[in-house]
Amino acid sequence: SEAEPLLRVTALESGYGKIRVLHGIDLHIAAGEVVTLLGPNGAGKSTLLRAISGLLPVNAASVRFDGRDISNGTPREAARAGLVHVIEGHRVFTQQTVTENLLLAAYDLPRGERHARVDEALSFFPEIAQKRHERGASLSGGQQQMLVVAQGLVRRPRLLMLDEPSAGLSPVLVDRVLTVIAQLQKQGTAVLLVEQLVEKALAAANRVYALSQGRIVLEATTSEANLPQRLERAYFGHE
Ligand code: ATP
Repeated sequence: SEAEPLLRVTALESGYGKIRVLHGIDLHIAAGEVVTLLGPNGAGKSTLLRAISGLLPVNAASVRFDGRDISNGTPREAARAGLVHVIEGHRVFTQQTVTENLLLAAYDLPRGERHARVDEALSFFPEIAQKRHERGASLSGGQQQMLVVAQGLVRRPRLLMLDEPSAGLSPVLVDRVLTVIAQLQKQGTAVLLVEQLVEKALAAANRVYALSQGRIVLEATTSEANLPQRLERAYFGHE
């Protein structure tokens, strides 16, 4: 088929056991596109990322990535295909060095490539690169969060899904995350960003979806003039 998007989610349903959280989600992301997923607490944003990456079961044929059906695959399979999910609140190994943490994320890459991938990932985070031989425990909480993102970058993703990367970060590190997203886009990497900092997320993204009570209630380009009004209506359930 012509111009199939990098990620296509179709009529996706998912949840926890018998609790259905997501209802008929349709969403797509083109190669190199930055898309932000907004919505109130409990709307289902994290659940949607988990469903896409294979952490939660989904209905058949609902997730296609890079031209293949990846519905109900494992997160590891998704990562191998180029879809990397940086999970909210994921922890680094505090007794391992920065480099060792990154090598662990690169364990299944060809041996000769691992160190180059680690250097490449660290090039996005100068503050952490300086501490590459120090233990995870010696990094600030924010730097540990950046290291988790770097662990995702080691895999050289074609789509990086970030779940509230700015949560608990200092303003400097929030800006670092946004800079990294812009750099990734420049090199052709697509990003799906869940973020509470709505204005920053919109500034970073080409397109936005709003989720409310497990349904997509808005899709727009971020350049749209009346987007703030549309978002407000969507949040309050009138759109
Ligand atoms: P937040 O911004 O607060 O993280 P969110 O939009 O990411 O919100 P989710 O965390 O995806 O929302 O939660 C969506 C719904 O799924 C909520 O009703 C929540 O209570 C429920 N839920 C989330 N995690 C679980 C779980 N592990 N087991 C059962 N229900 C869950």
